Amino acid sequence: MLKKIDTRLAEYNSQDVRFDVSFATEVLLLISKEIDTHNKHLENSYRFNLLSPYRAMVVTHVQPFITDFFVRLNEKYNKKHSPKGQMEEYKGTVWTLFKNVVDSKTENVIAATFFREAITKAVTEHLSDLLPILVQEHIMTSFAHEKYTLMKTIMTDLAEKDNFELFFIFILDPSEYTRAWMHRHIDNDMFDRGTDSSTTYGRLAKCQIQKILKQLLKCISEASRICCNSDMKDISSWIQEFIQHSRELNILPFPNEVFAHVQNRTVDDLESYTNDIINDWNEMERDISELYDDTDENTVQWKKNPISEIMEKLWGCTAKCMFCAEPCRHTDKSHLEQDVPHQCIQHRPQGIGGFHWENTRYLVTEFCNFWVQTNQKYKWTEGEQKVSRYYKEYKTHFPGWDIVPSSDKSKYWMWVMNKYQNELKERYKVEKANLPESWKTITKEEAIESLSFI
Ligand SMILES: [Zn+2]
Ligand SMILES: [Zn+2]
Repeated sequence: MLKKIDTRLAEYNSQDVRFDVSFATEVLLLISKEIDTHNKHLENSYRFNLLSPYRAMVVTHVQPFITDFFVRLNEKYNKKHSPKGQMEEYKGTVWTLFKNVVDSKTENVIAATFFREAITKAVTEHLSDLLPILVQEHIMTSFAHEKYTLMKTIMTDLAEKDNFELFFIFILDPSEYTRAWMHRHIDNDMFDRGTDSSTTYGRLAKCQIQKILKQLLKCISEASRICCNSDMKDISSWIQEFIQHSRELNILPFPNEVFAHVQNRTVDDLESYTNDIINDWNEMERDISELYDDTDENTVQWKKNPISEIMEKLWGCTAKCMFCAEPCRHTDKSHLEQDVPHQCIQHRPQGIGGFHWENTRYLVTEFCNFWVQTNQKYKWTEGEQKVSRYYKEYKTHFPGWDIVPSSDKSKYWMWVMNKYQNELKERYKVEKANLPESWKTITKEEAIESLSFI
């Protein structure tokens, strides 16, 4: 039997042909036929029959060999005729075909199996485009699509963590800190397993899979109804009807070649073919969903990592106040081009950003929104020189900025400045601020709570 297969393969090998599923069918039918012939004992006098385990053994033995053979055959063809080859994809197809032939299944069943395979492939490909967008939307909604809600969450988290190093990274580069924070947040939000061990990622995917497959099932019924009520009782017409309905309902963008393997089959009974598809539909749905249920933060393969879009749309402008390091409130990166200046929701005591008095080197406790309405001056390094400027004339040097004059003070940052006064002094290599007594009694809870009253 194996010799016969070898001969057949040698024949294919000497031809300049592209892989065709009929080649595999021929080889596999040969195995089936050989086993049946043996069992009928017409050409031998052996007193034993070859049972299912033996079939399975032959299958297991031959499958990798013929799959590789056909992969090589196709590569050879492609090398000569086309630079592109998708032979890897055929591996699964050959294997399915192989199982079906050895199990002596009918053409209808084989076609139905290929159809489900094609659907699985199309759905998973569609989801790889869709999931990054769904995850992005899920995350953005959880922050009410607002930059400040995100900032507030991060500042609350920082206060709870009580780690100056993290605070300092957030002060120096808030958007980079947020990006790293968001990365962990997406992992936790998407892949933490609840009490039922499901993940948000798996549930988002499942919801789409259910929706898509439910609609595709309608297209199957519709294609069958049209074909049965006309003289188009062939599989090609059925596939065309199916594709057309799915396009009308705007479900999935099926390229025509997706169903090439199905259309190659000779289906003689459309009803039995569709029944077979429908019978295994739920199992197929479970199999697809399982791919996403099993995904975790280590195995996820984003077609496009959602973090870039989230940062673009939720954080946006990366500017920060030149006096106190507070991030600009705008999410639209191009707001300056639309004549909308950088603005902050609140400002900080300037010592947070390293501002200190020239003589005493004490960190500054005043807020920039206060200074801009006074005659106070500040020193700014320009090249080699330090120049003296009025705060109230900040727009001359920072025309893109708008600091609304007020006496507002952020309780949160007053708490930070008091709590980490030694660390800030060390980091900026200056002297501790001369803090007002009232700042020292602010509690962490009050600081966090103050973020909600801005
Ligand atoms: Zn400021
Ligand atoms: Zn801005």
